[in-house]
Amino acid sequence: MPANHRLSVEFRGHTLALENVPCDFCGGTEFVPFWSKMRHGLDLETVFCAACSLCQTNPRPTPDANRLFYQRLYMSFHGNSSNLDSEYVTRSARIAAPRVDLLARVIGKDQPLTVFEVGAGAGQFQRLARERTSWRVSGIEPGKEQAELCRRLCLDVENRFLEEAPGDGGPYDVVVSFHVFEHFLSPADFLRRVNRLLKPGGLLYLEVPNLASPGGPFTAFLQFPHLYSFTAITLRNYLTAIGGFQPVFTSEGRSDLGMMSRKISEARTDHPRAGDFERYDLERFREKMKVLERVFTLASYVPRLPVLEKVRATLFSV
Ligand SMILES: [Zn+2]
Repeated sequence: MPANHRLSVEFRGHTLALENVPCDFCGGTEFVPFWSKMRHGLDLETVFCAACSLCQTNPRPTPDANRLFYQRLYMSFHGNSSNLDSEYVTRSARIAAPRVDLLARVIGKDQPLTVFEVGAGAGQFQRLARERTSWRVSGIEPGKEQAELCRRLCLDVENRFLEEAPGDGGPYDVVVSFHVFEHFLSPADFLRRVNRLLKPGGLLYLEVPNLASPGGPFTAFLQFPHLYSFTAITLRNYLTAIGGFQPVFTSEGRSDLGMMSRKISEARTDHPRAGDFERYDLERFREKMKVLERVFTLASYVPRLPVLEKVRATLFSV
């Protein structure tokens, strides 16, 4: 277990209780420290599992503290607004458009495929998918305000967590989930549930923040309620060694990592063994990330002048 015995953290007048947990992926209990600060100055430890290299928050907020966060603090934490013309919704639409176009290129846009979205947010992916494709889209969204936004757009979105009403709905041709996987207490549990939602040969598209290309300082990239950060290797490990999926393609952009995979078997119910997954050299990776952080710090000192914009952009795109 991590040698950290501080079992709560204060945040905006709330006390979030913490717990030490074994690694969700491999069950390991040895961890290597990585970073000790997060966005908004939150004092939470980010560590790597020594056995499988998975990056995670540990100790982490308990399931109750996590729930409190989503119910009471999430929208205000991100400065999100529940209006359809807010900056939050406009930004969501801007991000959703290339996602719809990318999927349309892979699965085609003219078939009435059933597409289920876990974590619909402001509903902009589904709104655009309805406009641009023949897919039959639906989904779930645990956030009350976001689910209300979806309802106002007349989308087929239920206000619930994935683990509520298990086995409900499906099977679907495609499941998509954008920047949700990293929020789950157990990504393994997420994949087991999603596997059951898909038809044999069905497709899963996951997009998560890219730990190997954070696009800015780690104190901004690492943020609660993200409980995990993935590289292409650790995301692929989850899909292949636990999820019962075979990767079809990977897209690694600045700060985002997307992976499409096909269901080829049932999900595994226990932890994978050492030979069942790929590892990377943690020491080398941590050194590389420290160099990146120095580049980002340097970039933040570049004056915000038009003539220097290219320099700033180049440094941040390392
Ligand atoms: Zn592990």
